[in-house]
Amino acid sequence: MDYRAVMQKLSFLPDLYLVGGAVRDILLGLTPEDLDFATSAPPEETLRLAQAHGLEAIPTGVEHGTVTLLIDRHPYEVTTFRRDVETFGRKARVAWGQHIEEDLARRDFTIGAIAMDAGGRVIDPYGGQQDIEAGVLRAVGDPGQRFREDYLRVIRAGRFAARYGFQIEPKTLAAARAAAPEVLSHVAIERVTAEFDKAFQNGTPSRFVRYLYDLEILQRLIPEFEDTHLLLQNPRWHPEGDVLTHVLEVVDRASPQIRWHALLHDIGKKDTARWKPEGWYSFHGHERVGAAIIPRIARALRLPNQLRDELVVTTALHMVPVLTRPTPAAIRKFQAQAGPHLPALKALYEADGGARRPPESWRFFEPQPVPVRPVLQGRHLIERGHKPGKDFSRMLQAAYDWQLETGETEIEKLYQAALKGLLKEN
Ligand code: ATP
Ligand code: MG
Repeated sequence: MDYRAVMQKLSFLPDLYLVGGAVRDILLGLTPEDLDFATSAPPEETLRLAQAHGLEAIPTGVEHGTVTLLIDRHPYEVTTFRRDVETFGRKARVAWGQHIEEDLARRDFTIGAIAMDAGGRVIDPYGGQQDIEAGVLRAVGDPGQRFREDYLRVIRAGRFAARYGFQIEPKTLAAARAAAPEVLSHVAIERVTAEFDKAFQNGTPSRFVRYLYDLEILQRLIPEFEDTHLLLQNPRWHPEGDVLTHVLEVVDRASPQIRWHALLHDIGKKDTARWKPEGWYSFHGHERVGAAIIPRIARALRLPNQLRDELVVTTALHMVPVLTRPTPAAIRKFQAQAGPHLPALKALYEADGGARRPPESWRFFEPQPVPVRPVLQGRHLIERGHKPGKDFSRMLQAAYDWQLETGETEIEKLYQAALKGLLKEN
């Protein structure tokens, strides 16, 4: 629903303003993702008024002043004006405020410290509109103080700059740089990872990652990124130059769902780099070494297990499709290794090689239209009078090898292969 229509329906709330990212996005000419409102009413009052006006109201974060109101089943957050009483590097003790200006004063960047009332009138005490016009990201008030109040803002600065293509104002950037060494000791790792997830959604995520690298935050999170801007690669494959630049180009080319894969696919290059007399490094086995590093990184960043498992596979296999004219057997074996991660692998592969010319030289193989999971199962052997035991797995393996080698899917033929495997091994 249009924000004006929503504000109309919420007009029973005193001093109602649209705030934060929604105002910024409207002024940028974008459609805001969610509409957040501020009011002078304390949360209990918001709850009471909403119910009196027939709206469903959920006390989603009353201690922070937030009530969620449902209009046509769509949630809108309404938060009481707040002011900081005390801040502790990430957390703050807040009190309810009386005026929208107090509420705007505790917001981090000028472009997000603008409020709009139901009549479209803008409250913009920090020149946020001017900064939007100029494409500038600037802290509200004293940047050093703002970053020390809440170190997450250092990371948010990079994310907003990357998302909107804004320049970080020099004093704000200098203060972010000065605060950077402290960031990871104050901010929970889940929050940091969530910033990556958000930065991967839109804009130019490479700018976000490069910013974290320039502030030496990325290397603290993932030590394998250390000095990757110095690792020159074979110009034949990598005209873009160093490992970091390559990785960042892949991150931008990748679709949002595949950006963690892009970020980590060459994570083994640092540890496998060998200087060549030609003037660049080779990275023999980097995909295997990288895959072995992934679980540690995933644990450190608290990535979901499902993502971790997929990252291990895509990192390990991202070089294999380079095989020129792979045989159908090689393709089936490869598909079997990739398992359910084949679509992710293909997407990563295409983003990885996206700049190569001619494009035909970097085409992913056509998957074979046959099952690549074992067709012959233990129960088939039992049905044929075999008893589970030490020969069992050898027979199943022989059948599976034959299946992948030849594309055979008929049970009887695979059973013959299993019997042969038994004879051969004995
Ligand atoms: P997006 O939701 O697209 O990431 P946003 O600007 O809406 O961007 P939110 O995190 O949703 O960001 O926060 C909404 C608003 O609350 C921000 O625009 C900002 O004014 C304020 N805000 C959020 N987090 C902080 C923070 N850590 N310090 C100060 N102000 C903040
Ligand atoms: Mg938001």
